[in-house]
This record gives sequence, C-alpha cells and structure tokens, in this order.
Amino acid sequence: MKRLLAFLLATGLVVAGAVWLADQPGEVVIHWQGWRVDTTVPVLLAALVVLLLLLGVAGRLAWLILGAPGRLMRARLAARTRKGYVALSDGLAAVAAGDRRAAARLARKADTLLRDKAVTGLLTVQAAQMSGDAQHLHHYYQTMTERPETAFLGFKGLLELALKQGERSEAREAAARALALQPAADGIAATLYDLQMEAGQLTEAELTLAVARRHSSLPAAELARRRALVSLARAEAAQAAGDTAAALALALDARDVQPDLIPAVSLAAGLYRQAGKDRKAALLLQSAFRATPHPELVTQWAALGGTDTPLERVKRMQRLVETNPASPDGHLALAEAALNAKLWGQARTHLDTARTQRPSPRVFAQLARLERDEKHDEAAALAWLAQATTSGADPAWICRSCGHAAPVFSVCCPACAAPGRMEWR
Ligand SMILES: [Zn+2]
Repeated sequence: MKRLLAFLLATGLVVAGAVWLADQPGEVVIHWQGWRVDTTVPVLLAALVVLLLLLGVAGRLAWLILGAPGRLMRARLAARTRKGYVALSDGLAAVAAGDRRAAARLARKADTLLRDKAVTGLLTVQAAQMSGDAQHLHHYYQTMTERPETAFLGFKGLLELALKQGERSEAREAAARALALQPAADGIAATLYDLQMEAGQLTEAELTLAVARRHSSLPAAELARRRALVSLARAEAAQAAGDTAAALALALDARDVQPDLIPAVSLAAGLYRQAGKDRKAALLLQSAFRATPHPELVTQWAALGGTDTPLERVKRMQRLVETNPASPDGHLALAEAALNAKLWGQARTHLDTARTQRPSPRVFAQLARLERDEKHDEAAALAWLAQATTSGADPAWICRSCGHAAPVFSVCCPACAAPGRMEWR
C-alpha cells in the first residue's frame, strides 16, 4: 500500500514537472562545428534524459561483458572451496570410522582443493598417522612448526615420531622446542629429562627439572626422585674421575633428597669408609636399613668390619639387623654370618624365618650349605637346592620399562637406557 502510494506520488510529480516544463517558454540555439540546432528547453531536457538513460544501459552492458570472467572465476573458486570442505569433513569422518584408505584419499583431495595447510593439516596428519607413513608425517609436523598456532603440536608430533623411530637426538631437540613453547605441557618435561639423562646431559636434565618445578608439570615426589637421580649420576661421574670428596657430597645430596635411594646411601657409605669415617658410614647404613632393609646395605656394613673374626662379624651384623628385625634380608644376613662362625643353631633359625618370609634361591642355597657344613648331608643339601629351582627368583634390580633384571643398580637401564626405572623387587 505504501509502495503504491509512493509510486503514485512519484508519477504525479514527474507528470506535473513535465507539464510545467512544457508550459515554460524558451528556446535554445546550439552552434557546434558548423551545425546549428534550434529547439525548445523541454525538448532539450527530454533529449538529455534519453541520452543519460542510454549511457546507463551501455554501462550496465559493459559491466556484464567485462566482469564475466572474474565472476566465473569467483564462482569456480567458491565451488572448489565448498568441495574442499566436504572432502575435509568426509575425511575426518573416515578417520573417526578408522577407514585408513578413504582418510588418505580425502586428505589429499582436501589438500588439493583448499590449498591451506592450516585448515587441512589435522586431517592430513591423522591420515598419515593411520597409514603409518612416517615420511609424510615428518613433513607435515615440520610444516606445523612454522605457524605459531600449531608449532607446539608440530614439535610434539616430531618428538613422538623420533621416539618411535629411535632417533634419540632428534627426539631430544623436538622435546626441548616443545617445552620452550609450552613449559607446563603434560609429559614433555618428563620425556625431555629422560632423553637428557640417557645422553648423560646432567646439567640440561637439571634445567628441565627446574622448568617442571616452576610450572608444576611434575608432582613434587617425582621431582625429588628425578633430582636425586641426577645427583647420584653426578656422584658416580665424580667418583669415576677420582674426585671422591665431590662424589661423597653429591651422593649425600641424592640421599637427602630421596632417603630410600639405596645406591646413593651405599655409595656414600663406601666413600665414608674409604675416607676412614667408619662411624659416619655406620650411622648412615643403620638409618637407611631401618627404613629400607636392602642387601646392598648389608654388604657395605660387612665391609666396615674388615679385620673382624667370624664371631665379631655376627655381633656386628646383629647391630645392623636390630634396626629392622623383621626383614628377610636381615635374617639372611645373620644366617650367613652365623654359618661363617659355625653357629649352626642360629643359622638354621634365621634361615627358617627367611624361608617362611620369602623362599628364594639364595635362602635355599644357604640351607644346602648348612646341611653340608654342619652334617655333611649331601642328600639333604641337594633336596634344598631342588626347591630353589621351583621357588620365586631372588630380588633384583628390575627395569620398570623393559623388565630387564640386573644384580646391580644403574641410573639408566643397561637394556633400554631409560633413567630411574630400576626397582628392587
Ligand atoms: Zn629397561
């Protein structure tokens, strides 16, 4: 209704204007290039209006003809982008469905159509991950590291890839870059620490722990355990270099940070003994045995009584074991000392207790020795030894990562190089 009114009003105005113009007297004479035009003002105005209309139509035609290629290009680009996004969406669906071949094909298609790695990167990486195409993956992770938004994920991907391929130094580099970008990221500090420790980069490993502490990316107990391990590795290096004073200080530091780190206690006790400080060594060993009875401590304790008679050794061993009387390793240590002193009754009592607590080849071997030494009973000895073959294994240092078992502790597993994985069990 409003539009009709406006139209009527406009038409009325135009008609009125035309009538008014037609009523106006006046002539126009134009001289141009030897031409002479005689006309009235209304006719000239009408001619001007017609000319303007013609120019408008011509302009519109020119726009239609000249702009056609551009519009065509834009339309094709829009169609291409649409197809690209469809491929991207289908590709992600294929990844979710676990369809490796479709994912790879659609990733390639989306990549070709969209030509934007920032958009197709995730699909391409996931498709490459599914197909196990390491070369492709490496390339895409590398590309991701070039954009600030995806750099962390790129380095994390490169780290995982390098770890899978056993490229330790490349993994170390990628982990360091990833940690620099996101210091609080889960697991990166721990992985970088492990890689640095196995490469013997103790200073770098300590710096990594400092970053983890600042950003609370590792629990306090885990931080302490790892820091103690660095000190122990440093102590071992100092001892190997002949610097026993530094080795002792570092071993004590490791023990202070993690009191149940038996190898650190054992190293410190041995170094005290070498320095003639037997009393300090004894106090250290007793306090450690009280909390964590371990055969390594027994060995160091026995070494303190270098010139003891067998009977004195029994007494000495009692002073250690009484700090933790219930331990099977204590009973075994006392039984061995008693056997050496030919105290058969005592030896048997302790061996029986140790056998009840933890039957193991070492206990059965000592029982066999008792039968041989006391009664010269070879048959009874062999019967005990036969039981050793069916009993559980003696405790040993066992790698939590690869299961490798070793009689002596090492900071890094001798089989898989992982640091801090050896557990006594
Ligand atoms: Zn291992």
